[in-house]
Amino acid sequence: MTVMVDIRSVHKSFGPLDVLKGIDLAVRAGEVTVILGPSGSGKSTLLRTINHLEKVDRGAISVDGTLVGYRRLGDRLYELPEREVLRQRTRIGFVFQNFNLFPHLTVLDNIIEAPVSALKRPRKEAVETARRLLDRVGLSDKADAYPKQLSGGQQQRVAIARALALEPRLLLFDEPTSALDPELVGEVLDVIKDLAHQGTTMIVVTHEIGFAREVADTVVFMDDGRIVEQGPPADVLDRPAHDRTRAFLSKVL
Ligand code: ADP
Ligand code: MG
Repeated sequence: MTVMVDIRSVHKSFGPLDVLKGIDLAVRAGEVTVILGPSGSGKSTLLRTINHLEKVDRGAISVDGTLVGYRRLGDRLYELPEREVLRQRTRIGFVFQNFNLFPHLTVLDNIIEAPVSALKRPRKEAVETARRLLDRVGLSDKADAYPKQLSGGQQQRVAIARALALEPRLLLFDEPTSALDPELVGEVLDVIKDLAHQGTTMIVVTHEIGFAREVADTVVFMDDGRIVEQGPPADVLDRPAHDRTRAFLSKVL
């Protein structure tokens, strides 16, 4: 299977704080990778490096065969101009913990904003796509609502539809259900599961172990800026090889 995301010895520090201490990870096309790990272990930073929201200090990341944020000339890397970084980013969907919808735009306008302004899609075509996506996340009746009129679960489903509107080759989720009331978690996980079954390549940071067990092809456990272990859910979740993984799982299960 082809590799969609190829992360090679990535290091990242914030001042004196080493947050990523040499991350190697390959995510195959069509697969779901779930990243687990304690708070502060570097999960969000790792996701953010994949679309160059954070620059790596060392190492390199490729998505779909293209180096992220840099161009290689000979044996040197040159950072891409902002315009090209933005263009690369349009092909990677990012869903955040706090939805990050535009509060002053309706649901429909939230979804068509990037296709129309970044991809220059005709408005009519973008609206048709948006309505189809709203149907897919079960919100066809909310096109004209504003974010604050929706529940957290509904807002997060809009955020997923908005990410899908760019037809990304990769979807990144950073704790997509952590800000939700418990009774709203299921509706969002169901949408993500549905995408997984349709073969969308995804990296999901979450503490939802049941979701990981059911949906992940690979579970990655991170601690203190490193990948401690990775493998199929049946191995990492049920027969973890490392004490740190066991200690973490005993707290979240
Ligand atoms: P996680 O998502 O696993 O909780 P993060 O990647 O958010 O971890 O953070 C890892 C560490 O990096 C934490 O100690 C955090 O405080 C620090 N950190 C994250 N972003 C920044 C930043 N922009 N500036 C300084 N420190 C940061
Ligand atoms: Mg985080």
